[in-house]
Amino acid sequence: MVDHVIARYGEIILKGKNRTEFERLLIHNMQRALVDWPEVDIRKAGSRFSIYLNGAPVDAVIERLQRVFGLVSLSPVQAADLDLESIRDRVLQLLQSYKEQNGTAGSFKLEVKRANKRFPLTSPEVAQRLGALVLPRAREWKVDVHNPDLTVYVEIRDTEALVFGQKIPAVGGLPVGMSGRVGLLLSGGIDSPVAGWMAMKRGVRLEAIHFHSFPFTSERALQKVEDLAQILADWGGEVKLHVVHFTEVQTAIRKACKEELGITIMRRMMLRIADEIARRRRLLALCTGESLGQVASQTLESLRTINAVTNLPILRPLIAEDKVDIIRRARQIGTYETSILPYEDCCTIFVPRNPRTKPRLEEAEQAEQNLDIAGLVQRCVDELQTKSFTARRGH
Ligand code: ATP
Ligand code: MG
Repeated sequence: MVDHVIARYGEIILKGKNRTEFERLLIHNMQRALVDWPEVDIRKAGSRFSIYLNGAPVDAVIERLQRVFGLVSLSPVQAADLDLESIRDRVLQLLQSYKEQNGTAGSFKLEVKRANKRFPLTSPEVAQRLGALVLPRAREWKVDVHNPDLTVYVEIRDTEALVFGQKIPAVGGLPVGMSGRVGLLLSGGIDSPVAGWMAMKRGVRLEAIHFHSFPFTSERALQKVEDLAQILADWGGEVKLHVVHFTEVQTAIRKACKEELGITIMRRMMLRIADEIARRRRLLALCTGESLGQVASQTLESLRTINAVTNLPILRPLIAEDKVDIIRRARQIGTYETSILPYEDCCTIFVPRNPRTKPRLEEAEQAEQNLDIAGLVQRCVDELQTKSFTARRGH
């Protein structure tokens, strides 16, 4: 019977205070991910964690932990007494369940690690004797130390031996909260949710910012963005969503600025507003789904002209990604199906006939002269609507 799960984390360079903080956040985030099973007990065991199930379903717990940023691998573990017969029985159980799952036996090797130096046998001795005890009772199995179908890990510890056959990969990265809070410009498209996910994977806590132009864009378009924020929260534990009412800004741009620069100026306004939200919310950076060359507004010239309105660092995790890879990632994290729903975005409603692909900074500044920038930013930020999303049970 599996009685606990080993959860490993990477980032071996972690030291001192950083390490303490990393572990504290990881425990907190794991507890959150496992709220459905209050009986589960998380304990630190050296430089990894032992997750005691106390009756909770092992597959569901592992599935949930695979999504916790910061964990790199998981192993369902059986504990044995510190004698070779009882270790042998656990090894036989593992071989048996492999056979049941795969329909056939195969080859295996034993990999023994001895943390308990008082145990009277060395690791190679344990492996040898254990092999001799196992093989007569597992006649369909062969030993293959180079390319086995199954590696059986045996760890000799102080009070027990641990036996496990799998290292199941987890998502990796850093625990959410480790890297501070960042404002994610979240549209209803495919890219920005993926960009936010990647930032979260590096420990960022997200505050999403969405520009909504009711009635030009519908309630359903907004619902779609809320759904995306919810999916991101299912991964990262908690995501705030700030909705900016952007209609006045878009109308003003249309009235006061050259049509061909409309998109550039709209983007500059978005960034100015995001910058002010970041100031008030004390966010350390912004994050977008921009990818070089993907659309007209994502040439380097355009990025430079847009970027010029803020001094904040802008994270662009997708800048060098191809669309097919972004789509693959979107499917994997579960945002794709929502992103492709057909509701209009505020960027698509006033698209000029001939948008400039290489808007110069001076031209943009010139075109904005008749725009009441400060007033528009102020009103948008004052009327912000904020919602919080937390991970749903069962996700
Ligand atoms: P996405 O798939 O993320 O919408 P995109 O390829 O459609 O990206 P654009 O529409 O040019 O690209 O938007 C570039 C980036 O600007 C987006 O990735 C997003 O970060 C931000 N953005 C665009 N529209 C909005 C919006 N309505 N609200 C918030 N951010 C937005
Ligand atoms: Mg878009």
